[in-house]
Amino acid sequence: MYHLHEKYEAVIGLEIHVQLLTDSKAYSNDKNEYGAEPNSNISAITLAHPGVLPKVNEKQLQFAILLGLACECDIREENQYARKNYFYADMPKGYQITQDETPICNNGFVRVKDADGNEKNVTLTRIHMEEDSGKSIHDQDPFHTLIDLNRAGTPLLEMVTEPEIRSGVEAYNFVTEVRKLVRYLEICDGNMEEGSMRCDANISVRERGSEKFGTKVEVKNMNSMRNVQRAIEFEIDRQIKAVEAGEEIFHETRSFDAGAGTTAGMRSKEEANDYRYFPEPDLLPVMVTEEKIESVKEIMPPLPHELFEKYTQELKLSDYDAQILTDSKDVALYYEKMITSCSNYKACANWLMGEVKGYLNDKGLHISEFPISAEKIAGIVQLIDEGKINNSIASQKVFPALLESPEKDAAQIATEQNLVQEGDDDALLGYIQAAIAAFPDKAEAYKSGKKGLLGLFMGEVMKKSGGKADPKKTNALLREELEK
Ligand code: ADP
Ligand code: MG
Repeated sequence: MYHLHEKYEAVIGLEIHVQLLTDSKAYSNDKNEYGAEPNSNISAITLAHPGVLPKVNEKQLQFAILLGLACECDIREENQYARKNYFYADMPKGYQITQDETPICNNGFVRVKDADGNEKNVTLTRIHMEEDSGKSIHDQDPFHTLIDLNRAGTPLLEMVTEPEIRSGVEAYNFVTEVRKLVRYLEICDGNMEEGSMRCDANISVRERGSEKFGTKVEVKNMNSMRNVQRAIEFEIDRQIKAVEAGEEIFHETRSFDAGAGTTAGMRSKEEANDYRYFPEPDLLPVMVTEEKIESVKEIMPPLPHELFEKYTQELKLSDYDAQILTDSKDVALYYEKMITSCSNYKACANWLMGEVKGYLNDKGLHISEFPISAEKIAGIVQLIDEGKINNSIASQKVFPALLESPEKDAAQIATEQNLVQEGDDDALLGYIQAAIAAFPDKAEAYKSGKKGLLGLFMGEVMKKSGGKADPKKTNALLREELEK
Protein backbone atom coordinates (compact mmCIF):
# COMPACT_ATOMS: atom_id res chain seq x y z
CA MET A 1 0.00 0.00 0.00
CA TYR A 2 2.96 2.33 0.40
CA HIS A 3 2.80 3.71 -3.15
CA LEU A 4 -0.86 4.54 -2.62
CA HIS A 5 -0.09 6.43 0.57
CA GLU A 6 2.31 8.48 -1.48
CA LYS A 7 -0.49 9.37 -3.84
CA TYR A 8 -3.11 9.99 -1.14
CA GLU A 9 -3.21 12.00 2.02
CA ALA A 10 -5.38 11.33 5.06
CA VAL A 11 -7.37 14.12 6.72
CA ILE A 12 -8.39 13.48 10.32
CA GLY A 13 -10.31 15.45 12.93
CA LEU A 14 -10.86 14.09 16.45
CA GLU A 15 -13.67 14.51 18.95
CA ILE A 16 -12.65 13.69 22.51
CA HIS A 17 -15.01 13.37 25.43
CA VAL A 18 -13.58 13.58 28.91
CA GLN A 19 -15.59 12.66 32.00
CA LEU A 20 -14.88 15.15 34.73
CA LEU A 21 -13.76 14.28 38.24
CA THR A 22 -16.37 16.44 39.94
CA ASP A 23 -18.15 15.35 43.11
CA SER A 24 -21.60 15.85 41.66
CA LYS A 25 -23.27 15.61 38.29
CA ALA A 26 -23.49 18.33 35.67
CA TYR A 27 -26.95 19.64 36.46
CA SER A 28 -27.88 18.09 39.82
CA ASN A 29 -26.51 17.20 43.25
CA ASP A 30 -26.39 13.49 42.44
CA LYS A 31 -23.05 11.89 43.16
CA ASN A 32 -20.72 11.54 40.20
CA GLU A 33 -19.16 8.23 41.10
CA TYR A 34 -17.81 5.37 39.00
CA GLY A 35 -18.64 1.80 39.98
CA ALA A 36 -21.51 2.53 42.39
CA GLU A 37 -24.47 0.16 42.81
CA PRO A 38 -26.45 0.50 39.53
CA ASN A 39 -29.19 3.14 39.61
CA SER A 40 -28.23 4.43 43.04
CA ASN A 41 -27.18 7.99 42.14
CA ILE A 42 -30.37 9.02 40.44
CA SER A 43 -32.54 11.73 41.94
CA ALA A 44 -35.64 13.15 40.26
CA ILE A 45 -33.42 15.49 38.24
CA THR A 46 -31.34 12.68 36.74
CA LEU A 47 -34.53 10.75 36.12
CA ALA A 48 -36.01 13.84 34.43
CA HIS A 49 -39.24 13.85 36.36
CA PRO A 50 -41.63 16.51 35.12
CA GLY A 51 -41.00 19.98 36.50
CA VAL A 52 -37.49 19.43 37.87
CA LEU A 53 -34.92 22.12 37.21
CA PRO A 54 -31.27 21.68 36.28
CA LYS A 55 -28.58 23.86 37.83
CA VAL A 56 -25.04 24.71 36.79
CA ASN A 57 -22.07 22.85 38.27
CA GLU A 58 -19.39 25.39 39.20
CA LYS A 59 -16.67 22.74 39.15
CA GLN A 60 -17.49 21.76 35.59
CA LEU A 61 -17.20 25.40 34.61
CA GLN A 62 -13.88 25.70 36.42
CA PHE A 63 -12.52 22.53 34.77
CA ALA A 64 -13.59 23.78 31.34
CA ILE A 65 -11.71 27.02 31.91
CA LEU A 66 -8.65 25.15 33.20
CA LEU A 67 -8.50 22.97 30.09
CA GLY A 68 -9.21 25.94 27.85
CA LEU A 69 -6.42 28.03 29.38
CA ALA A 70 -4.01 25.10 29.26
CA CYS A 71 -4.71 24.87 25.52
CA GLU A 72 -4.45 28.64 25.09
CA CYS A 73 -8.07 28.96 23.97
CA ASP A 74 -10.21 32.07 23.92
CA ILE A 75 -12.62 31.74 26.83
CA ARG A 76 -16.16 32.88 26.11
CA GLU A 77 -17.81 35.36 28.42
CA GLU A 78 -21.48 34.54 27.88
CA ASN A 79 -22.18 30.83 27.77
CA GLN A 80 -25.55 29.62 26.61
CA TYR A 81 -26.61 26.04 27.18
CA ALA A 82 -28.52 24.21 24.45
CA ARG A 83 -30.78 21.21 24.18
CA LYS A 84 -29.72 18.54 21.73
CA ASN A 85 -32.79 16.41 21.14
CA TYR A 86 -32.56 12.72 20.43
CA PHE A 87 -33.85 9.45 21.79
CA TYR A 88 -31.66 7.06 23.68
CA ALA A 89 -33.17 4.46 25.98
CA ASP A 90 -30.58 5.40 28.61
CA MET A 91 -31.23 9.13 28.44
CA PRO A 92 -34.44 9.86 30.34
CA LYS A 93 -34.76 13.53 29.39
CA GLY A 94 -34.92 12.81 25.67
CA TYR A 95 -32.30 15.49 25.15
CA GLN A 96 -28.79 16.28 26.25
CA ILE A 97 -27.92 19.63 27.78
CA THR A 98 -24.85 20.76 25.89
CA GLN A 99 -23.48 23.88 24.24
CA ASP A 100 -24.15 24.58 20.60
CA GLU A 101 -23.38 28.01 19.19
CA THR A 102 -21.49 29.26 22.23
CA PRO A 103 -18.85 26.72 23.27
CA ILE A 104 -16.91 27.94 26.30
CA CYS A 105 -13.56 27.62 24.47
CA ASN A 106 -12.46 28.30 20.90
CA ASN A 107 -9.21 28.51 18.96
CA GLY A 108 -6.81 26.69 21.21
CA PHE A 109 -4.27 24.08 20.27
CA VAL A 110 -2.48 20.99 21.51
CA ARG A 111 1.24 20.50 20.93
CA VAL A 112 1.92 17.13 19.32
CA LYS A 113 4.56 15.35 17.29
CA ASP A 114 3.68 14.28 13.76
CA ALA A 115 4.57 10.87 12.31
CA ASP A 116 8.09 12.12 11.52
CA GLY A 117 8.62 13.39 15.05
CA ASN A 118 8.27 17.07 14.12
CA GLU A 119 6.54 19.50 16.47
CA LYS A 120 3.10 20.56 15.35
CA ASN A 121 0.17 22.41 16.89
CA VAL A 122 -3.21 20.84 16.26
CA THR A 123 -5.93 23.51 16.42
CA LEU A 124 -8.91 22.99 18.68
CA THR A 125 -12.06 24.19 17.01
CA ARG A 126 -13.86 24.21 20.34
CA ILE A 127 -14.25 22.78 23.81
CA HIS A 128 -17.75 22.71 25.23
CA MET A 129 -19.53 21.53 28.36
CA GLU A 130 -22.15 18.81 28.26
CA GLU A 131 -23.42 15.70 30.05
CA ASP A 132 -23.13 11.96 29.53
CA SER A 133 -26.02 9.59 28.94
CA GLY A 134 -26.72 6.49 31.07
CA LYS A 135 -25.39 3.09 30.17
CA SER A 136 -27.17 0.25 28.36
CA ILE A 137 -25.84 -3.14 29.34
CA HIS A 138 -26.39 -5.85 26.73
CA ASP A 139 -24.32 -8.70 28.06
CA GLN A 140 -25.73 -9.48 31.51
CA ASP A 141 -29.16 -10.81 30.68
CA PRO A 142 -29.76 -13.12 27.71
CA PHE A 143 -33.11 -11.59 26.81
CA HIS A 144 -33.04 -8.01 28.02
CA THR A 145 -30.98 -4.89 27.87
CA LEU A 146 -30.32 -3.54 31.36
CA ILE A 147 -30.03 0.16 31.99
CA ASP A 148 -27.88 1.86 34.60
CA LEU A 149 -28.61 5.55 34.88
CA ASN A 150 -25.79 6.37 37.29
CA ARG A 151 -23.74 7.74 34.41
CA ALA A 152 -26.57 9.94 33.14
CA GLY A 153 -25.69 13.55 33.83
CA THR A 154 -21.96 12.95 34.36
CA PRO A 155 -20.20 16.20 33.47
CA LEU A 156 -18.27 16.04 30.22
CA LEU A 157 -16.04 18.28 28.22
CA GLU A 158 -15.94 17.66 24.49
CA MET A 159 -12.88 18.78 22.54
CA VAL A 160 -13.15 19.03 18.76
CA THR A 161 -10.11 19.47 16.54
CA GLU A 162 -9.79 21.01 13.12
CA PRO A 163 -9.16 18.41 10.39
CA GLU A 164 -5.41 18.92 10.72
CA ILE A 165 -4.24 15.48 11.76
CA ARG A 166 -2.60 13.46 9.00
CA SER A 167 -1.88 9.97 10.29
CA GLY A 168 -2.77 7.33 12.85
CA VAL A 169 0.50 7.96 14.68
CA GLU A 170 -0.22 11.65 14.94
CA ALA A 171 -3.71 10.91 16.28
CA TYR A 172 -2.16 8.56 18.82
CA ASN A 173 0.24 11.32 19.86
CA PHE A 174 -2.62 13.80 20.10
CA VAL A 175 -4.68 11.56 22.38
CA THR A 176 -1.57 10.86 24.47
CA GLU A 177 -1.00 14.58 24.96
CA VAL A 178 -4.63 15.23 25.84
CA ARG A 179 -4.59 12.42 28.36
CA LYS A 180 -1.41 13.77 29.92
CA LEU A 181 -2.94 17.23 30.07
CA VAL A 182 -6.22 16.22 31.76
CA ARG A 183 -4.21 14.18 34.26
CA TYR A 184 -1.92 17.11 35.03
CA LEU A 185 -5.00 19.29 35.49
CA GLU A 186 -6.62 16.54 37.57
CA ILE A 187 -9.92 17.06 35.80
CA CYS A 188 -10.26 13.52 34.36
CA ASP A 189 -8.54 10.22 35.10
CA GLY A 190 -7.90 9.67 31.37
CA ASN A 191 -8.72 5.96 31.43
CA MET A 192 -9.80 5.11 27.91
CA GLU A 193 -10.26 1.46 28.80
CA GLU A 194 -12.92 2.41 31.35
CA GLY A 195 -14.49 4.94 29.03
CA SER A 196 -13.73 8.00 31.12
CA MET A 197 -11.95 9.40 28.11
CA ARG A 198 -13.38 8.55 24.66
CA CYS A 199 -12.26 9.42 21.18
CA ASP A 200 -14.17 9.46 17.90
CA ALA A 201 -12.21 9.92 14.70
CA ASN A 202 -13.39 11.63 11.51
CA ILE A 203 -11.38 10.38 8.57
CA SER A 204 -11.25 11.15 4.88
CA VAL A 205 -8.65 10.80 2.15
CA ARG A 206 -7.75 12.97 -0.81
CA GLU A 207 -5.09 13.03 -3.48
CA ARG A 208 -2.03 14.88 -2.32
CA GLY A 209 -2.05 18.43 -3.57
CA SER A 210 -5.84 18.56 -3.69
CA GLU A 211 -7.44 21.43 -1.80
CA LYS A 212 -10.80 19.78 -1.44
CA PHE A 213 -11.55 17.36 1.41
CA GLY A 214 -12.93 13.93 0.68
CA THR A 215 -16.13 12.62 2.28
CA LYS A 216 -15.48 11.87 5.93
CA VAL A 217 -16.37 8.77 7.85
CA GLU A 218 -16.73 8.84 11.64
CA VAL A 219 -15.26 5.91 13.55
CA LYS A 220 -16.33 5.12 17.11
CA ASN A 221 -15.66 2.57 19.83
CA MET A 222 -11.90 2.66 20.15
CA ASN A 223 -11.25 1.99 23.80
CA SER A 224 -7.52 2.59 23.92
CA MET A 225 -5.04 4.98 22.38
CA ARG A 226 -3.50 2.19 20.35
CA ASN A 227 -6.93 1.32 18.98
CA VAL A 228 -7.46 4.91 17.88
CA GLN A 229 -4.33 4.57 15.79
CA ARG A 230 -5.27 1.11 14.49
CA ALA A 231 -8.79 2.17 13.56
CA ILE A 232 -7.50 5.20 11.67
CA GLU A 233 -4.83 3.23 9.84
CA PHE A 234 -7.35 0.59 8.82
CA GLU A 235 -9.82 3.21 7.69
CA ILE A 236 -7.24 5.12 5.63
CA ASP A 237 -6.31 1.92 3.81
CA ARG A 238 -9.92 1.00 3.26
CA GLN A 239 -10.80 4.39 1.85
CA ILE A 240 -7.77 4.56 -0.43
CA LYS A 241 -8.57 1.13 -1.80
CA ALA A 242 -12.18 2.13 -2.35
CA VAL A 243 -11.24 5.34 -4.14
CA GLU A 244 -8.73 3.48 -6.30
CA ALA A 245 -11.43 0.97 -7.22
CA GLY A 246 -13.65 3.83 -8.30
CA GLU A 247 -16.07 3.36 -5.41
CA GLU A 248 -17.81 6.15 -3.58
CA ILE A 249 -17.07 6.83 0.12
CA PHE A 250 -20.29 7.13 2.09
CA HIS A 251 -20.79 9.67 4.80
CA GLU A 252 -21.40 7.21 7.62
CA THR A 253 -20.58 6.21 11.16
CA ARG A 254 -18.49 3.08 11.53
CA SER A 255 -17.57 1.01 14.55
CA PHE A 256 -14.08 -0.33 15.27
CA ASP A 257 -13.75 -4.05 15.98
CA ALA A 258 -10.60 -4.35 18.08
CA GLY A 259 -10.39 -8.13 17.66
CA ALA A 260 -10.46 -8.01 13.88
CA GLY A 261 -8.73 -4.63 13.60
CA THR A 262 -11.40 -3.49 11.13
CA THR A 263 -14.25 -1.00 10.95
CA ALA A 264 -17.83 -1.76 9.94
CA GLY A 265 -20.76 0.48 9.06
CA MET A 266 -23.21 1.32 11.90
CA ARG A 267 -25.46 3.95 10.42
CA SER A 268 -25.46 6.20 7.42
CA LYS A 269 -25.35 9.93 8.01
CA GLU A 270 -27.88 10.52 5.22
CA GLU A 271 -30.59 9.45 7.61
CA ALA A 272 -28.84 11.21 10.47
CA ASN A 273 -30.69 12.89 13.30
CA ASP A 274 -31.71 16.46 13.18
CA TYR A 275 -30.98 17.35 16.77
CA ARG A 276 -33.12 20.46 16.63
CA TYR A 277 -30.86 22.40 18.97
CA PHE A 278 -32.41 25.28 20.88
CA PRO A 279 -31.35 27.33 23.89
CA GLU A 280 -31.95 25.46 27.15
CA PRO A 281 -34.90 27.34 28.67
CA ASP A 282 -34.27 26.12 32.23
CA LEU A 283 -30.72 27.49 32.56
CA LEU A 284 -29.61 31.09 32.38
CA PRO A 285 -26.43 31.70 30.40
CA VAL A 286 -23.37 31.55 32.69
CA MET A 287 -21.06 34.50 32.61
CA VAL A 288 -17.32 33.93 32.81
CA THR A 289 -15.83 37.12 34.16
CA GLU A 290 -12.20 38.27 33.99
CA GLU A 291 -11.98 37.70 37.76
CA LYS A 292 -13.19 34.15 37.30
CA ILE A 293 -10.50 33.51 34.68
CA GLU A 294 -7.85 35.05 36.95
CA SER A 295 -8.92 32.86 39.86
CA VAL A 296 -8.61 29.76 37.67
CA LYS A 297 -5.14 30.85 36.52
CA GLU A 298 -4.13 30.88 40.16
CA ILE A 299 -4.83 27.19 40.57
CA MET A 300 -3.21 26.21 37.26
CA PRO A 301 -0.56 23.54 37.93
CA PRO A 302 2.71 23.47 35.98
CA LEU A 303 1.95 22.04 32.54
CA PRO A 304 3.91 19.24 30.87
CA HIS A 305 5.16 21.37 27.97
CA GLU A 306 6.32 24.11 30.37
CA LEU A 307 8.28 21.63 32.45
CA PHE A 308 9.67 20.03 29.29
CA GLU A 309 10.91 23.41 28.15
CA LYS A 310 12.42 24.18 31.56
CA TYR A 311 14.23 20.83 31.67
CA THR A 312 15.65 21.07 28.17
CA GLN A 313 16.38 24.82 28.04
CA GLU A 314 17.33 25.74 31.60
CA LEU A 315 18.50 22.45 33.05
CA LYS A 316 20.05 21.27 29.78
CA LEU A 317 18.61 17.78 29.99
CA SER A 318 18.12 15.81 26.79
CA ASP A 319 14.70 15.74 25.11
CA TYR A 320 14.54 12.07 26.00
CA ASP A 321 15.09 12.65 29.72
CA ALA A 322 12.70 15.59 29.79
CA GLN A 323 10.06 13.51 28.06
CA ILE A 324 10.26 10.72 30.61
CA LEU A 325 10.33 13.10 33.56
CA THR A 326 7.23 14.99 32.38
CA ASP A 327 5.26 11.94 31.30
CA SER A 328 3.45 11.85 34.62
CA LYS A 329 2.81 14.81 36.85
CA ASP A 330 3.75 12.93 40.01
CA VAL A 331 7.14 11.99 38.63
CA ALA A 332 7.71 15.56 37.44
CA LEU A 333 6.76 16.98 40.85
CA TYR A 334 9.07 14.50 42.57
CA TYR A 335 11.87 15.68 40.30
CA GLU A 336 10.97 19.30 41.03
CA LYS A 337 11.45 18.57 44.73
CA MET A 338 14.77 16.81 44.13
CA ILE A 339 16.23 19.78 42.31
CA THR A 340 15.29 22.27 45.00
CA SER A 341 18.03 20.78 47.16
CA CYS A 342 20.51 19.56 44.54
CA SER A 343 21.80 21.29 41.47
CA ASN A 344 23.24 18.28 39.69
CA TYR A 345 20.15 18.08 37.49
CA LYS A 346 21.38 15.33 35.24
CA ALA A 347 22.37 13.08 38.14
CA CYS A 348 19.02 13.72 39.85
CA ALA A 349 17.24 12.75 36.61
CA ASN A 350 19.37 9.62 36.31
CA TRP A 351 18.59 8.56 39.86
CA LEU A 352 14.90 9.14 39.46
CA MET A 353 14.67 7.35 36.12
CA GLY A 354 17.13 4.64 37.11
CA GLU A 355 17.09 3.43 40.71
CA VAL A 356 13.76 4.93 41.78
CA LYS A 357 11.74 3.95 38.71
CA GLY A 358 13.46 0.57 38.62
CA TYR A 359 12.34 -0.09 42.16
CA LEU A 360 8.79 1.08 41.46
CA ASN A 361 8.50 -1.07 38.33
CA ASP A 362 9.86 -4.01 40.19
CA LYS A 363 7.33 -3.68 42.99
CA GLY A 364 4.49 -2.53 40.77
CA LEU A 365 4.17 0.68 42.78
CA HIS A 366 3.17 4.21 41.86
CA ILE A 367 5.58 6.99 42.76
CA SER A 368 3.14 8.29 45.36
CA GLU A 369 3.76 5.02 47.22
CA PHE A 370 7.54 5.37 47.13
CA PRO A 371 8.83 5.46 50.71
CA ILE A 372 11.86 7.71 50.25
CA SER A 373 11.37 11.45 49.96
CA ALA A 374 12.71 13.40 46.99
CA GLU A 375 15.01 15.38 49.28
CA LYS A 376 16.64 12.19 50.55
CA ILE A 377 17.27 10.80 47.07
CA ALA A 378 18.77 14.19 46.22
CA GLY A 379 20.91 13.68 49.34
CA ILE A 380 22.40 10.54 47.81
CA VAL A 381 23.27 12.46 44.65
CA GLN A 382 24.94 15.11 46.75
CA LEU A 383 27.05 12.60 48.66
CA ILE A 384 28.28 11.24 45.35
CA ASP A 385 29.00 14.74 44.07
CA GLU A 386 30.96 15.58 47.19
CA GLY A 387 33.07 12.50 46.60
CA LYS A 388 31.89 10.93 49.88
CA ILE A 389 30.48 7.78 48.30
CA ASN A 390 30.74 6.35 44.81
CA ASN A 391 27.92 5.33 42.52
CA SER A 392 28.00 1.63 43.26
CA ILE A 393 28.05 2.10 47.03
CA ALA A 394 25.19 4.55 46.57
CA SER A 395 22.98 2.18 44.62
CA GLN A 396 24.00 -1.07 46.27
CA LYS A 397 24.29 0.01 49.91
CA VAL A 398 22.84 3.44 50.65
CA PHE A 399 19.70 3.18 48.50
CA PRO A 400 18.60 -0.20 49.92
CA ALA A 401 19.38 1.02 53.45
CA LEU A 402 17.23 4.11 52.88
CA LEU A 403 14.41 1.89 51.66
CA GLU A 404 14.66 0.01 54.95
CA SER A 405 14.83 3.17 57.06
CA PRO A 406 13.33 6.03 55.08
CA GLU A 407 13.39 8.23 58.19
CA LYS A 408 17.20 8.36 58.07
CA ASP A 409 19.14 10.34 55.52
CA ALA A 410 21.84 9.28 53.12
CA ALA A 411 24.74 10.94 54.93
CA GLN A 412 23.71 9.35 58.22
CA ILE A 413 23.57 5.89 56.64
CA ALA A 414 26.93 6.34 54.91
CA THR A 415 28.54 7.28 58.21
CA GLU A 416 26.81 4.64 60.31
CA GLN A 417 27.71 1.86 57.90
CA ASN A 418 31.21 3.17 57.41
CA LEU A 419 30.69 3.68 53.69
CA VAL A 420 32.29 7.07 53.29
CA GLN A 421 34.86 6.53 50.64
CA GLU A 422 38.57 6.58 50.87
CA GLY A 423 39.72 9.66 48.98
CA ASP A 424 42.85 9.99 51.02
CA ASP A 425 45.86 9.42 48.74
CA ASP A 426 47.93 7.54 51.31
CA ALA A 427 45.16 5.11 52.11
CA LEU A 428 44.42 4.58 48.42
CA LEU A 429 48.07 4.02 47.67
CA GLY A 430 48.11 1.32 50.34
CA TYR A 431 45.26 -0.56 48.66
CA ILE A 432 46.83 -0.09 45.23
CA GLN A 433 50.22 -1.40 46.25
CA ALA A 434 48.63 -4.36 47.95
CA ALA A 435 46.64 -5.09 44.80
CA ILE A 436 49.72 -4.94 42.60
CA ALA A 437 51.66 -7.13 45.02
CA ALA A 438 48.90 -9.72 44.85
CA PHE A 439 49.28 -10.11 41.06
CA PRO A 440 52.94 -9.52 40.16
CA ASP A 441 52.72 -11.39 36.84
CA LYS A 442 49.63 -9.41 35.80
CA ALA A 443 51.42 -6.19 36.70
CA GLU A 444 54.26 -7.25 34.37
CA ALA A 445 51.79 -8.06 31.62
CA TYR A 446 50.18 -4.62 32.06
CA LYS A 447 53.52 -2.94 31.69
CA SER A 448 54.26 -4.85 28.53
CA GLY A 449 51.08 -3.55 26.94
CA LYS A 450 48.05 -5.47 28.25
CA LYS A 451 46.24 -2.31 29.36
CA GLY A 452 42.98 -4.18 29.63
CA LEU A 453 44.22 -5.57 32.94
CA LEU A 454 43.53 -2.22 34.60
CA GLY A 455 40.00 -3.42 35.35
CA LEU A 456 41.33 -6.36 37.32
CA PHE A 457 43.40 -4.07 39.53
CA MET A 458 40.51 -1.63 39.94
CA GLY A 459 38.37 -4.52 41.11
CA GLU A 460 41.05 -5.64 43.54
CA VAL A 461 41.41 -2.15 45.03
CA MET A 462 37.63 -1.92 45.41
CA LYS A 463 37.59 -5.28 47.14
CA LYS A 464 40.38 -4.36 49.51
CA SER A 465 38.77 -1.01 50.34
CA GLY A 466 35.36 -2.56 50.89
CA GLY A 467 34.05 -0.65 47.87
CA LYS A 468 34.98 2.67 49.42
CA ALA A 469 37.83 3.69 47.14
CA ASP A 470 37.09 6.82 45.12
CA PRO A 471 37.06 5.33 41.61
CA LYS A 472 38.33 8.42 39.82
CA LYS A 473 41.33 8.90 42.07
CA THR A 474 42.02 5.18 42.18
CA ASN A 475 42.05 5.02 38.42
CA ALA A 476 44.62 7.80 38.13
CA LEU A 477 46.85 6.57 40.95
CA LEU A 478 46.68 2.99 39.79
CA ARG A 479 47.87 3.87 36.28
CA GLU A 480 50.75 5.79 37.78
CA GLU A 481 51.77 2.93 40.05
CA LEU A 482 51.50 0.30 37.35
CA GLU A 483 53.69 2.29 34.98
CA LYS A 484 56.46 2.51 37.57
P1 ADP B 1 -20.37 17.37 11.67
O1 ADP B 1 -21.22 18.47 11.21
O2 ADP B 1 -20.55 16.10 10.93
O3 ADP B 1 -20.36 17.20 13.16
P2 ADP B 1 -18.01 19.01 11.78
O4 ADP B 1 -17.66 19.93 10.68
O5 ADP B 1 -18.62 19.58 13.02
O6 ADP B 1 -18.89 17.82 11.22
O7 ADP B 1 -16.68 18.27 12.19
C1 ADP B 1 -16.64 17.24 13.09
C2 ADP B 1 -15.22 16.72 13.11
O8 ADP B 1 -14.88 16.20 11.81
C3 ADP B 1 -14.16 17.76 13.40
O9 ADP B 1 -13.17 17.16 14.21
C4 ADP B 1 -13.60 18.10 12.05
O10 ADP B 1 -12.25 18.51 12.12
C5 ADP B 1 -13.69 16.79 11.33
N1 ADP B 1 -13.83 16.92 9.88
C6 ADP B 1 -14.62 17.77 9.19
N2 ADP B 1 -14.52 17.54 7.87
C7 ADP B 1 -13.64 16.51 7.72
C8 ADP B 1 -13.14 15.79 6.59
N3 ADP B 1 -13.52 16.08 5.34
N4 ADP B 1 -12.29 14.80 6.82
C9 ADP B 1 -11.91 14.47 8.06
N5 ADP B 1 -12.35 15.10 9.15
C10 ADP B 1 -13.21 16.11 8.99
MG1 MG C 1 -20.28 19.03 14.53
